[in-house]
Amino acid sequence: MTLSVVSKEYQNLQKEIIRHQEQWKQMIDRETIKPHLDQAVMATGVPAVALTTIDFNISLFLQWVDEIITILVKNNPELEQKLAGISSLLDEETAIRWIEEASSFHQAYFEKFAACHRLEQWIPSFLAETALRPYLQLTAEMVQPEIHHAVPGAGCPVCGEPVRLASLEEDGKKVIPCPRCLAHWQAKRLECSHCGNDDHKKLQYLTIEGDAVSQIQVCDECHGYMKIIDTRQYITKPSAALLDLNSIHLDFVAQEHGYRAVGEKIGRC
Ligand SMILES: [Zn+2]
Ligand SMILES: [Zn+2]
Repeated sequence: MTLSVVSKEYQNLQKEIIRHQEQWKQMIDRETIKPHLDQAVMATGVPAVALTTIDFNISLFLQWVDEIITILVKNNPELEQKLAGISSLLDEETAIRWIEEASSFHQAYFEKFAACHRLEQWIPSFLAETALRPYLQLTAEMVQPEIHHAVPGAGCPVCGEPVRLASLEEDGKKVIPCPRCLAHWQAKRLECSHCGNDDHKKLQYLTIEGDAVSQIQVCDECHGYMKIIDTRQYITKPSAALLDLNSIHLDFVAQEHGYRAVGEKIGRC
């Protein structure tokens, strides 16, 4: 088993994008984000962004889309032709639609958009999601003091992203960071984040030869998995996005064993 299954080029591209997202986040006027958190509603699994009014700066969003295209082409000149002309498709109305559809994970909308405009399928959703994240990340930063735990199965309490990663911190605390919005919260050590199963006999751990800091928690109840990384060894802890990216080999192992990133309980007869 090789530990590096993702190409260096891909990792470098992702790292460059993460750096840009950090800078873009600084460009957003905090006054345009107004969270109206209701803990009772959030206890039912509604993510904080759904309870937040965001007045998006569309010209800034479009500028980021252009910058993402420049980064992609710089990393892979063959993409130039495939990405040419996308900016001209993006008027204000379409940009607003992209933001809405990316916020609510409507993959089908982007697949249709790609088909209608003869684009490769990954392109519209990748651009929309990448340019949306600085807003999600700033929202997460603002509401973080009120985020303490998640509802099993509901994903990230801020943005709704399915949980796939946890870090073990001081005193063995299990903290779940969201690679999408960078919020974090604490979870029970012996609990499946997908279905809430806390029967230790139905939770197992897969380990990877040659990787002493990672394990994969798998749940026999919902067949979901979660990567657990002991981050106590790091002097400077990598961001959730980098932890997720650097541990992608664990996703392959879990999926090879038949586990899924999103658990699913099979109803009993
Ligand atoms: Zn999130
Ligand atoms: Zn489970």
